[in-house]
Amino acid sequence: MSKFLPYGTQSIGADDVRAVVRALKSDRLTQGPEVERFEEAFAKFCGAPYAVAVSSGTAGLHLAALTAGLGPGDEAVTTPLTFAATANCVLYAGASPCFADVHDSDLGLDPAAVRKAVTPKTRALLPVHFAGQPNVWGAKRDFSRRPDFMVIEDACHALGAEVRSGNRWERIGSCSAADMAVFSFHPVKHVTTGEGGMVTTRDRKFYDRLRLLRSHGIERERAKFVYPGEAGAWSYEMQTLGFNYRITDIQCALGLSQLKKAPRFIARRREIASLYRKALSGVPFLSLVPESEGTRSSYHLFPVRIDFRALGLDRSSFMDALKREGIGTQVHYIPVPRQPYYRKLGFRPQNYPVAERFYSEALSIPMFPAMTDSDVRRVVRVLFKKLKRGVAR
Ligand SMILES: *Cc1c(COP(=O)(O)O)cnc(C)c1O
Repeated sequence: MSKFLPYGTQSIGADDVRAVVRALKSDRLTQGPEVERFEEAFAKFCGAPYAVAVSSGTAGLHLAALTAGLGPGDEAVTTPLTFAATANCVLYAGASPCFADVHDSDLGLDPAAVRKAVTPKTRALLPVHFAGQPNVWGAKRDFSRRPDFMVIEDACHALGAEVRSGNRWERIGSCSAADMAVFSFHPVKHVTTGEGGMVTTRDRKFYDRLRLLRSHGIERERAKFVYPGEAGAWSYEMQTLGFNYRITDIQCALGLSQLKKAPRFIARRREIASLYRKALSGVPFLSLVPESEGTRSSYHLFPVRIDFRALGLDRSSFMDALKREGIGTQVHYIPVPRQPYYRKLGFRPQNYPVAERFYSEALSIPMFPAMTDSDVRRVVRVLFKKLKRGVAR
């Protein structure tokens, strides 16, 4: 049987292995020079002045929520069609998440639904660029007049995704329309560090705060001490309650090496997407998620919509049948309000009908840069066959 094609996976080369080995043989395994090198390269890639590397995308979301000042009594609006971590970070900060439904086209937050979800308590908006498709939501002031209203982009799907700005393209993470953007380096994302994440921002104060919170709330720079007194170079101050959300130099060496290849990875993802689009357009009961005007997706995922009900197919059996043919698929996402924990908080999935509808049809098919054209053709062939015959046998 031909090789198994997962819905997504990392691409690790000999150059990545060399970079990691070099870091392992260096003096510093953590809190060393690779961290800042990776941060600088990443900030430059996104077009933002500052980036702070952390131990995961989730840690980045948590620190971004705290840095935005979210706390008890505050509300933050996000999408039901995301990984739980997007909403969880609001709860970590002691604030209350609210969901607004997605738009049927880009599957990101629908600005009209957001406007309805915003209350005087709303302190933040957390859009997600679903599957790598930029969710263009407009300007902050369209939603709230509060000066402390923040936009935190969950950009975990969107490394290298672009939005047109005048006659140039701006990458997600440049923070030209957001206060902070959060990325993940989990192996299924565009570039990996095993586990890892990054927060980008244009605000120097946010940058300092993120760095402080990442490492126990401890300040080591004497000029910034609350009580400078007789403090020597050895001294440090714990100024706030922070965490250990640091990432290692070993991971950052891998991240740097991966980031060099990100343009190639993303270009290949776009090629695969265009092959899929050609092959799958016009297939009955199957529809594609279009690219929005003025944006370029970076295709973290390639979700298709299949009207399983009309076809009389059960999605789980369909996925099992594809798996038997060596094709991995996944469902992104079970809407967060469906999760027992969120139901207990009072959320009801039926309040987000566009997300629910998408969920009932969603199937992410293999999308990763190492896929060959013939891998893509194989996915299409098997998909056609199974759609035609169903999975009765
Ligand atoms: C991957 C992901 C996260 C979490 O990132 P981790 O690095 O796994 O903690 C958060 N939000 C979205 C949308 C993601 O895809």
